[in-house]
Amino acid sequence: MPSAQRLLALKEKIRHACISAGRPPSEVQLVAVSKTFPETELHPVYQAGQRHFGENYAQELRDKGQSFTQQGIDDITWHFIGRIQSNKIKHIAAHASYVHSVEKVAHAQALGAHAPRPLKVFITVNIAREQSKGGLPPEETLQRCEEIHQLENIEVCGLMCLPPRCEDPEESAPYFEQMAALTAEGRARGLPLTELSMGMSNDFHVAIRYGATWVRVGSAIFGARMPKP
Ligand SMILES: *Cc1c(COP(=O)(O)O)cnc(C)c1O
Repeated sequence: MPSAQRLLALKEKIRHACISAGRPPSEVQLVAVSKTFPETELHPVYQAGQRHFGENYAQELRDKGQSFTQQGIDDITWHFIGRIQSNKIKHIAAHASYVHSVEKVAHAQALGAHAPRPLKVFITVNIAREQSKGGLPPEETLQRCEEIHQLENIEVCGLMCLPPRCEDPEESAPYFEQMAALTAEGRARGLPLTELSMGMSNDFHVAIRYGATWVRVGSAIFGARMPKP
């Protein structure tokens, strides 16, 4: 199936997941995760109406961002969702409008300093406390949100998580539920956590049930990725 058709099928599934969850479909937005795919593969998805794209690698974001701009396409909103490296922050800040993978104050400060416009950020939570993954332990998250939200040019708009990959997406449900609870706690403390970034190709329907407002979906649109060399 061509990617444009997969996009439309996915959007229909997202709409159904919203309705099953008793939520208006307008509450959930899609980030098409295009990491590792050449720019030519983004075009049909853009042509089919997709405007939010997510990238994991700073140089790849820069290259694709520049290329689209040079072609006169200036209505893509880029989301950076990968690990942040200090020496590449300027590329991220130059192109992204949303950064989903913030945990360090120093990174957020540098992003704010380089961004040409206020940057919306999500604070990453290591919700399953996995050794191998970044993100903050839940009990440190809200304090960090408060610190980062005070920085110049930075708006903390929500939390993000990447739970362990499971065979059965229902196994992610307890993690998504904890993310929703942490978001509610943050709101009660006065933080403007209006967004919640969670859910990928295999489990977006479960994430939507627990309040996701942004789902980040890659392979269900673009197909299987080649492993990074
Ligand atoms: C790659 C990636 C995704 C998309 O994963 P799929 O399983 O291809 O949908 C979402 N979020 C992050 C942080 C990713 O790195």
